[in-house]
Amino acid sequence: MPLIAANWKMHKTIVESEAFCAALLPLIEDSDCEVVICPSFLAVPSVAELCAGTAVAVATQNMHFESQGAFTGEVSAPMLLDAGASAVILGHSERRQMFGETDEALARKVPAALEAGLTPILCCGETEEERDGDQTDRVLRRQIDAGLSRVADDRLADVVVAYEPIWAIGTGRTATPEQADDACGFIRALLGSRSESASARVRILYGGSVKPQNAAELLGQDEIDGALVGGASLDAEDFAAIVEAA
Ligand code: PEP
Repeated sequence: MPLIAANWKMHKTIVESEAFCAALLPLIEDSDCEVVICPSFLAVPSVAELCAGTAVAVATQNMHFESQGAFTGEVSAPMLLDAGASAVILGHSERRQMFGETDEALARKVPAALEAGLTPILCCGETEEERDGDQTDRVLRRQIDAGLSRVADDRLADVVVAYEPIWAIGTGRTATPEQADDACGFIRALLGSRSESASARVRILYGGSVKPQNAAELLGQDEIDGALVGGASLDAEDFAAIVEAA
């Protein structure tokens, strides 16, 4: 079953988030996708309440690796669960580039999410310069090795990985289906070197300017199990069209 996640980033108030859910839910009633909405922390309880009993789950866009403590401004995995989230995006490139998210912190966040009962959606992806310099595989290997370094082999398949080439995020420039498929296949092989069964079961998403017009082709690739959608997830009809295409 494909997994389609909406990353709203720093968009939508609580009222706007509720209006989106009211518009989206009837549009995707008959779909057999697993859908995840990642609103602001503040909108998590409302979105979770509106989506309860549907195929739509709620995730957040970050968390701290400790469960509590003197970490001003941070939110922990047990707090997210308590608010109604069941998953969390970790290592999004905007957090890596603008907020100093490190591979070392992700090595602690991913197992902390799993231990608390949240599904981590671990993002990875190369810059344009790295792709042009044939560094894509090296960068993906570093990010995946670090993010999964403290995850036991028998929990690897509980992680969702999102391949998001940075040059395709919010730029309107999508990876070609072949580029996306190759990178997702490379990530699957990395997991396969630790556990054959995890590599067969893990879900690997593509993210980067996914829209209703290109979703079917991207999602039709063998190695791509779903999509992480930014800009096009802000409009209920566009997002529903992507879910329909999956
Ligand atoms: C994202 O930020 O995760 C993303 C994929 O954004 P967009 O779809 O806007 O490129």
